[in-house]
Formats: sequence, structure tokens, C-alpha cells
Amino acid sequence: MEEILDFWIRSNVNVSRDGSNFPSSYLQVNKGDVDQKLCITAESSLLNLCQICEAHTKMCTGNFRFIKKTMRGHVMSVRIQCTKDKSHSYLWSSSPYLSNDEYLVNHRINHGFVSSGMLPSHYTRFVNGSGIGCIDWSLRKKFISTYKESVETEYKESIKTAVHEEIASNEDLDGINILTDARHGWRKNAKDSSIVAIGENLHKVLDCVHVTK
Ligand SMILES: [Zn+2]
Repeated sequence: MEEILDFWIRSNVNVSRDGSNFPSSYLQVNKGDVDQKLCITAESSLLNLCQICEAHTKMCTGNFRFIKKTMRGHVMSVRIQCTKDKSHSYLWSSSPYLSNDEYLVNHRINHGFVSSGMLPSHYTRFVNGSGIGCIDWSLRKKFISTYKESVETEYKESIKTAVHEEIASNEDLDGINILTDARHGWRKNAKDSSIVAIGENLHKVLDCVHVTK
């Protein structure tokens, strides 16, 4: 039964339900194409590609073809050209731009990478293995320095608010109690520890310090 179904899928995969030449949305990959270029895209960019195709179809009967593909980090930048009129040429990117003209997709991946705790070597091994492009080390370094500043600003603002809230949560306003998991000294090999103090009442982070033995 399974073989019959597989045969049916293989024979029908490129034909639409009404038998017209309209391409099927179920696209199966051939063995030789498994190493094709992959990229990360955004919903709005995909919609933009549909809009470009729709607008072109209204004014021209030519077909689109990809004449140049460039990977910029995890973003694919594609030059699309019409087969009938070469002036119908568009540069489409798989990511929208941020206000600083950098790609949203690359920033989101950088954000995910930094906040996951992955090492740079894990990142490069992962992206090279999956073939989804790679953000250059210099760009990642630039991102991390800006990201660090932003995180520090948010952190300071957040603990300031948390301390005020913890003080306000004590009815007699004579001080606060903190909870901390400061057991780093118990482990002989724990040279460096990050000790987090949270408020007893609201359980919000009030401070975080790095302790070195
Ligand atoms: Zn055209």
C-alpha cells in the first residue's frame, strides 16, 4: 500500500489538481538538489516576492529566472530577471532591512546565538553543517559589542526597578530580604561563579555579581 502511495505521489507531484500547468505547491527535491543553497527568510520578504511576481505578471508575459544569488550571512540576495525584457530586473533579499540598513534575519540569528550560550565554534559547525550561510566573525563581533551595551543598559534599569518594587513590597519599609544561591564556594573547581540575588517577596533579580575565588 505504501509503495502504491509513493508511486502516486511521484507521478502526481508536479501536476495541479485541475490538470492545468499551474505549478504544484508541493515541491519534492531530487537527489542531486539536496545541496542547493538554503537561506533564512522573513514572512514580509516572502510576501514581497509574491507582490513582485504579481505586479510583473500584470504587465508582462515573460518568466522570471534567477541570474545571480549571493549569500549575505543567512540572507540570500537574488537578482531576478525577466526572460522577455531584461529591464524587468529586481533585486530581492530574503530579509527586510532594519533602520540601520542591516538585515533583520542576521540580527535575529545573532540574538539567538548570543542568548543561547553557544560557543562561536558551535555556531560555525552548526551553520556549516546545515548550509544556511554564515555571518562573518567581524560582523558578529560588531553585533556583540552593541548588544552588550544594550543588555547592560536594560540590566541596570531592570534591577533598579526591581529594588524599588521590593522595597515598596515591605509594609514597614525598614529594609529588604534577599535570597541567593551562593554555594559556589562548596565546589573545589568553581573558580568563577555568577551569584544572583533575588528579592524575598517578589522573586525578581536585584543584582548579579561575578565572584572569582
Ligand atoms: Zn517582464
